[in-house]
Amino acid sequence: MSEAGAPPMHKTRLYIAGAFVAPQEGGSFPAIDPATETAFAEVAAGTAADVDLAVRAARQAFDSGIWSELSGATRAAMLRLVAKGLRARLAEIAALEVRDNGKPLPEAEWDVGDAAFTFEYYADLAEARDGAAEEAVDVGDARFTASIRREPLGVVAAITPWNFPLLMAVWKVAPALAAGCTIVLKPSELCAMSCEILAEIIHAAGIPPGVFNLVTGTGPAAGQPLAEHPGVDKVAFTGSVATGRKVMTAAAAGIRTVALELGGKSPFVIFADCDIDKAVEWILFGIFWNKGEVCSATSRVLVERSLYPALLARLTEATEAIPIGPGNAPGIKLGPIVSQGQYDKIRAAIAAGKKTGARLVTGGDRPEGLPRGYFLRPTIFAEVPTGSALWREEIFGPVVCINPFDSEAEAIAFANDSAFGLAGAVMSDDLARCERVARKLRAGIIWVNCSQPTFTQLPWGGVKSSGIGRELGRAGFEAYFETKQITRFDPAQHWGWYLDTAP
Ligand code: NAD
Repeated sequence: MSEAGAPPMHKTRLYIAGAFVAPQEGGSFPAIDPATETAFAEVAAGTAADVDLAVRAARQAFDSGIWSELSGATRAAMLRLVAKGLRARLAEIAALEVRDNGKPLPEAEWDVGDAAFTFEYYADLAEARDGAAEEAVDVGDARFTASIRREPLGVVAAITPWNFPLLMAVWKVAPALAAGCTIVLKPSELCAMSCEILAEIIHAAGIPPGVFNLVTGTGPAAGQPLAEHPGVDKVAFTGSVATGRKVMTAAAAGIRTVALELGGKSPFVIFADCDIDKAVEWILFGIFWNKGEVCSATSRVLVERSLYPALLARLTEATEAIPIGPGNAPGIKLGPIVSQGQYDKIRAAIAAGKKTGARLVTGGDRPEGLPRGYFLRPTIFAEVPTGSALWREEIFGPVVCINPFDSEAEAIAFANDSAFGLAGAVMSDDLARCERVARKLRAGIIWVNCSQPTFTQLPWGGVKSSGIGRELGRAGFEAYFETKQITRFDPAQHWGWYLDTAP
């Protein structure tokens, strides 16, 4: 409800079969600004009935060939229009992401620019595929000609998280559409606003009805029926391990392909020969960028013992100097945590962490002067017991654990001793050592002398409990195709197993 005299709050709509519609059951829930703890919009609460309509629309659009049978160049032209539309509305979308998620404005602007580039990148790959969809294979028998075709795999269900609300959706939507698939997107209920604008831009770009569909709603009410829907060919999920397990179970019932981009507790190994300020800069970027709400955040820092005291002192000083406040205030480097629920979760992890014997070096509580909003001081724990949940489990917030190590072998062992394997980072002036460690770390993404820079051209994803499959890069495009073989027998030839058909 808006306050008396205030204009009514924007109410989002679903986008199904080319039309913006209200959910069939008519429900909605508030979008909360985490900097003020107040509602600023009403989000359409889609349910199983809306999911069913959306999947049917996507199924019909796929099966009709209206999108999959267009040339890559034609699809690319429309995807480039989507990129253009995103750039044209960049300021508006970025401001909305700040309001919905809390991240600092320059980070939100960066995300929207990245999202536009992702459409351009996959437009290029779609175009390059024209004429190359079929590859001849010599099967060693002159009576046969054979080929392998890569065909769009069908209807994709995309279920996405709140930390990069638009970008995580686009990492799936852009390659799926480029490949010729149709899609139903279910963004996180915590940050769904920017995906409505994405739908408007896709609509304006002339992408045919049913090719892209948006159903907002909660995980249980909209996500679960989408993951279970028999009309879906692939579920592409980004989120927590617990939900990933549910999504995989639902997909298993229908024998459907799944891609899971899950959590992490990524290590950052720092050797004593590093420049301290460079190390501190990348540790900060590795854990406090986007409030630490980053699946690949390097939340376990391992520092060679001789550098450890000086580095910890410098890191603490720099952490305490980070400007905290609403994401739309100038100069802010750490915004509020996304929601009350996530705020409580992080604070509970900090409280439990204090009981493990780890040393709370700084942070862990509300910053002074910010009595409202889900603000938290950036937090450092040192000398963390490696068996504790603090060291082993994802917190998904601005909390870093730091421990010393004595040898390269020990650092690698500590780093790899994790259920996760999304990312890892290593820093040393000895580049040969960096390469050695990079090869030994068990993770899908390794950063050398940095942490977090992410490029659309490179594959993204993890091993172990961090997930299955890769997004981005060429791998993220190939993930939306199926392989078909076509084997042709020369009709002029004679087979003659049962019948003598020889001329
Ligand atoms: P989450 O698992 O709570 O929710 C993710 C999505 O799943 C949301 O859209 C939610 O509504 C939906 N969902 C919830 N229950 C569902 C169900 N039963 N069936 C189907 N869908 C359901 O995760 P989150 O809190 O939004 O995101 C944080 C998590 O995402 C962290 O663990 C983080 O590491 C991970 N993440 C990973 C990557 C990556 O690329 N690996 C990127 C971003 C976030």
